[in-house]
Amino acid sequence: MSSSRTPVIAGNWKMHKTIAQAEEYVAGLLPRVADVEGLEVVLCVPYTALQAVVDSTRGSQLAIYAQNMHEAPSGAYTGEISAPMLTELDVHGTLLGHSERRQYFGETDRALQLKVPAALEAGLAPMLCVGETEEQRLAGDTERTLRHQVQEALEKVAVDRLTEVTIAYEPIWAIGTGQVATLEQAQEAIAFVRALVAGFDKDAAQQVRILYGGSVKPENAAELLALPDIDGALVGGASLDPASFAAIIDAARS
Ligand code: PEP
Repeated sequence: MSSSRTPVIAGNWKMHKTIAQAEEYVAGLLPRVADVEGLEVVLCVPYTALQAVVDSTRGSQLAIYAQNMHEAPSGAYTGEISAPMLTELDVHGTLLGHSERRQYFGETDRALQLKVPAALEAGLAPMLCVGETEEQRLAGDTERTLRHQVQEALEKVAVDRLTEVTIAYEPIWAIGTGQVATLEQAQEAIAFVRALVAGFDKDAAQQVRILYGGSVKPENAAELLALPDIDGALVGGASLDPASFAAIIDAARS
C-alpha cells in the first residue's frame, strides 16, 4: 500500500443476510473497528438491509454501499434501484460492474459508462469492479480485457472526479474459488489498471485507489496489502463473519 492513498477494506455480502442477520453482524463488527484510523471500511449490503445498516452504523467509521444501481434517476425499469433511492437512505456509495452482475445479469461496459458518472453526480462513491475470466487470462487477453473495461467505464467521468472512483481488480477465476492471484499477478494487473487511469490523467492515476479482490482471507491479506500498487481489498466470503472481516481490517492496519 502507498502512504499517499487512504486504504479501503470493503466487504461484499452479495445475496446474504436478512435485516436481523445484518443487525447482529453490525453489533459484532462495531466494537472490533471502533479504533480504526487512516483506513476506510466499507460494507456492500443487500438493498433490503441498507436502511437498517445505515441507521445502526451512523456515527461510526463504516461506509455503507449498495451492490448495484441503475443509471437513470427513475423510469420504467422493473426491479431496479436508482441513485436517489439510495441517497435518500444516506447510503455512501455503490459497487458497480461486479463480475457476478456481468456474468449472470448482463451488466455491460456500455451501461457502466452511464452508471459511474450517474453515481458521482448523485453524490454516491462508485466502486468499479473489473477483471478477466480464466479463459481470457489463459489466452493472454488479460490486458486487452482490462483496457476495454476501464476505458469504457471511465470514459464519461470528468477528469477532476476520477479520483473519487475506487477500482477493484478482481480476476474472476479468483472470486469465491479459494484460488487467490499470486502476488506477482495481482501487482502486475493493478499496476496496469493504474497505467490505464494515467491515460486519462497522470495525477489522478497516482491518487486513485485500486483494490484487489478474489479469495482474500485473514491468512493472505497482509502479503497482498503490502504490494505497492494495492490500496486495499474487496472481500466476499471472508467478510460474512465479523471476526474474519475484522482480521482483514487488522492486516491493513499493521
Ligand atoms: C467478491 O465478492 O467481490 C469477492 C472477491 O468474493 P470472494 O472474496 O469470496 O472471492
